[in-house]
Amino acid sequence: AEQALRQSQKMEAIGRLTGGIAHDFNNLLMVASSGVELLDRTTDPARRKALTDGVRQAVERGAVLTRQMLAFSRRAPLKTEVLHLPTRIEGLRFLLDRALREDIEVVLDLPADLWRIEADPGELELALLNLAVNARDAMPNGGRIILSAHNAPGEDDGPDMVCLRVADTGTGMSEAVASRVFEPFFTTKEVGRGTGLGLSQVYGFVRSSGGDISVESTEGVGTTFTLYLPRTDKPATVVDLSPAAVDPDRS
Ligand code: ADP
Repeated sequence: AEQALRQSQKMEAIGRLTGGIAHDFNNLLMVASSGVELLDRTTDPARRKALTDGVRQAVERGAVLTRQMLAFSRRAPLKTEVLHLPTRIEGLRFLLDRALREDIEVVLDLPADLWRIEADPGELELALLNLAVNARDAMPNGGRIILSAHNAPGEDDGPDMVCLRVADTGTGMSEAVASRVFEPFFTTKEVGRGTGLGLSQVYGFVRSSGGDISVESTEGVGTTFTLYLPRTDKPATVVDLSPAAVDPDRS
């Protein structure tokens, strides 16, 4: 019953906000189509480059918006795989660099012998992207994102967990904001910049993976999100050339 209630609240919230998001999405389509229109009539290389960048940004933002909506309203079951986080995150570097800015440094501190987890790789990627984009937005003058992980053995018969931290050196947030960040549609960003669905996707991802998440933030110092994801002993689903998979004694 609780889940049915949550689902109906979700649908209600989607209904109320679809209009707003459709409006944003339409604006992005207008930007992209007028950009393409102008490109057709422009020969100056510098101007063409600026137009192409504008179109690319609009399309990327539109893609993020629709992915977030899909993840939020998802009915399809998750497709889980056995994953080695360091390998996955290395594979994401290119995408992360594209989503961030030059004044933001990404530091990875991921031990190769990290335990494997069982999760949906698409949801994992989206969660990391959502966390990174939020960190970027909290660092308008640049800064650092530190992605670190460690094995956290279960205490008192509790399950073994993999602990993944995403820390930034950004503006931080007040306690009032921090207590609401996982609520769907909660945003402090201006209209058209935020949907308030990013962290709700991240929360859904960790919960559906049997894990949990917490946030710690200090205004003017930065924010750290800590994700706990249960360890799995299952063998890797796909060809996994990580050291831990090649030499099981290491895991
Ligand atoms: P959105 O990014 O669209 O606003 P999110 O659910 O991802 O939606 O985030 C909700 C809010 O949480 C943001 O509007 C912001 O106020 C706050 N927030 C999230 N991540 C950070 C961060 N790393 N630093 C400071 N504030 C953050």
